[in-house]
Amino acid sequence: MKALARYWTKLDKKKVRCELCPHRCILDDGQVGICRVRKNIGGKLYTLNYGTVSSMAVDPIEKKPLFHFKPGSRIFSVSTVGCNLRCKHCQNWEISQVGPEYPYTRDFKASDIVKIAEEHGSEGIAFTYNEPTIWHEFSVEVAKIAKKKGMYNVYVTNGYIQEEPLRELVNYIDAFNIDIKAFTNEFYIKITGGTLQPVLRTAEFVHRAGKHLELTYLIIPRLNDDPGEIRKFAEWVNSISPKIPVHFSRFYPTYKLTDRKETPLKTVHNAYKIAKDVGLEYVYLGNTWEPEYESTYCPNCGNLLIKREFYNTEITGLTSDGRCNNCGKKINIVL
Ligand code: SF4
Repeated sequence: MKALARYWTKLDKKKVRCELCPHRCILDDGQVGICRVRKNIGGKLYTLNYGTVSSMAVDPIEKKPLFHFKPGSRIFSVSTVGCNLRCKHCQNWEISQVGPEYPYTRDFKASDIVKIAEEHGSEGIAFTYNEPTIWHEFSVEVAKIAKKKGMYNVYVTNGYIQEEPLRELVNYIDAFNIDIKAFTNEFYIKITGGTLQPVLRTAEFVHRAGKHLELTYLIIPRLNDDPGEIRKFAEWVNSISPKIPVHFSRFYPTYKLTDRKETPLKTVHNAYKIAKDVGLEYVYLGNTWEPEYESTYCPNCGNLLIKREFYNTEITGLTSDGRCNNCGKKINIVL
């Protein structure tokens, strides 16, 4: 659905500059932005995917991944089309690398999404699968309605957003998982079409705003797997807070990145060790299917707090106020 966009500036000769993400696309009349879903029509910027839904499903919240926010719950998840990055290894490229012409979508009102989530017995809504930033106007509308009904909202994002819309967003989103796709600008430019610094700024802002934050780093052989780079990433996380949960995930060849094999297990195990050595308290491995790297342990006494195996989650060692039931340490967790 087409709707007037927010966050843009009028320029000369019917040009506009979009201010939603750090690309800050300058668009002539009739031109569409890098994300494929914002268009200059007659000197005004429109969002072309307002209410346009490509997928809906109820998922374990661990699939986002969020391990320290409502563990064991299931969350209604929703997405649109388009993305402001062009990652060569995108796992959801069928919906992210297309525009509103994609035939398998349906339009909904914001209140419909909340109603459907409620009907599915979900206490929250996750904006996920493709990049929710480029659905800003609609996702904020949905999130506002959900909040009024006492539900929570989750954003799974690449973090490529300008500060003004982010300021608005954090009022309605309770938990974020932000992808840190690598810790070099070179990777971002070459593989994603974006840049690193705005993503780091977003993560820092979300943490400062007091929102629940988890980070995901997909390790790709020969692109972002250098132990020195992993260490710098872990040190940066540690400088914000050692309590931020970090998910290292294993790459499998996909989309345009099929010239290399999956990430060796020893590489992700080594990343785990580096992050723990740096001092991070909650480190997890994804796509390895090793329960010992998916479970949560008390950083103080090593007590098993949450046992995870595939998507089965069992809270074993936490008190109702989020403390280790062995030593009493307060855990960074929202139950
Ligand atoms: S949201 Fe889209 S149109 Fe706006 S700056 Fe980003 S890529 Fe360009």
